[in-house]
Amino acid sequence: MKEILLLKLGELVLKGLNRGNFEKRLMKNLAWRIRNCGEFKIYCMQSTIYVEPQSDDCDMDAALDEAKRVFGIVNISRAAEVEKDIDKIISVSKEYLRDTLSNAKTFKVEAKRSDKSFPKKSPEICFEVGSALHDEFENIEVDVKNPEVLVKVEIRDRAAYVHANPIPGAGGLPVGINGRAAILLSGGIDSPVAAYMMAKRGVELFGIHFFSYPYTSERAKEKVIELARLVGKYAGNIKIAMVPFTKIQEEIRANCKEEYFTLIMRRFMMQIAEQVARENNCGALITGESLGQVASQTMEALGVTENGISLPVLRPVIGMDKEEIVGIARRINTFETSILPYEDCCTVFTPKHPRTKPKLENILEEEKKLPFDALCREAIENIEII
Ligand code: ATP
Ligand code: MG
Repeated sequence: MKEILLLKLGELVLKGLNRGNFEKRLMKNLAWRIRNCGEFKIYCMQSTIYVEPQSDDCDMDAALDEAKRVFGIVNISRAAEVEKDIDKIISVSKEYLRDTLSNAKTFKVEAKRSDKSFPKKSPEICFEVGSALHDEFENIEVDVKNPEVLVKVEIRDRAAYVHANPIPGAGGLPVGINGRAAILLSGGIDSPVAAYMMAKRGVELFGIHFFSYPYTSERAKEKVIELARLVGKYAGNIKIAMVPFTKIQEEIRANCKEEYFTLIMRRFMMQIAEQVARENNCGALITGESLGQVASQTMEALGVTENGISLPVLRPVIGMDKEEIVGIARRINTFETSILPYEDCCTVFTPKHPRTKPKLENILEEEKKLPFDALCREAIENIEII
């Protein structure tokens, strides 16, 4: 029996004239994602994307698994393809849904006939398929309001399809349709989640990581690369600009008041990130900051951090509790990597008593002690892209 995947488009359906482009982008993302699962034909009709295997050695399980992580899809059904003939539809339904229906108590059949030349109308199809299944499986009763199994029969142009109980897709919008942004990726829990959340809104990601060798180790860098790879399972490949940060941190330590260390360091990060972002065609910065989580994430501190930056700073986890962020991190499988105990450059040279209500003028005054622009330039010149 021939199986295909039917992917239902989400919010996309609402997008008016841009819809065609969005669908194209989604199909392109999907094609890339399942490129190692075999040869498939992918096309879109009536808000559904069809994924048809072109040979017997296509790996449907693997393709389904990949499709689950492609943004822009609300649900996914694995369907049996059958000739447009009512007897064949009935016999395939019995066979294909045997496991599902044998273990259920209630069911309902819904039919959709987009090929109007098919001799039976939808209510007749429902009735005939429903009666046959009811006869075949003695354990099930019809429940039209709240069926455990919703059997769908679709009569389309090329063939008919039978499927039941779709699984949820990744939701969101296709990566790439909402531009490109630079995610400041640390090795922590929050920034990979922030990256995932913006990718889900259709943003293509470019990573920026600051490292302070030898205060932070090679393994801390590898951890960030691994986190980008895990987020990339949803967001697509992510390039990372590795920014050497040691000299800047040492200069801050040698010249500035300890209570301002973290904030001045974060201002350097934002300034450098903005320049790197612009050079890489990014329209925004993304961080994993969450209001009040640490001293450098109070409202006043955030104000100081982003002062002087003209790109929008997107902070998708700003209003989330740590627990909620951890919940997402577990679901997208970044949590276990995030908690590996390698140091981040934010944790070297942390002040004992950081300012929680910093005043911008004091910090600008402190920064005058440093050759701010020259330090940024030098760091940017020594970036390595991975
Ligand atoms: P995370 O779990 O993302 O590390 P955090 O709670 O540790 O967050 P901070 O260390 O204060 O918070 O960092 C806040 C945000 O600044 C991070 O979410 C990230 O976007 C950015 N950031 C911090 N350290 C780095 C770094 N070494 N390289 C790039 N971005 C960083
Ligand atoms: Mg961190």
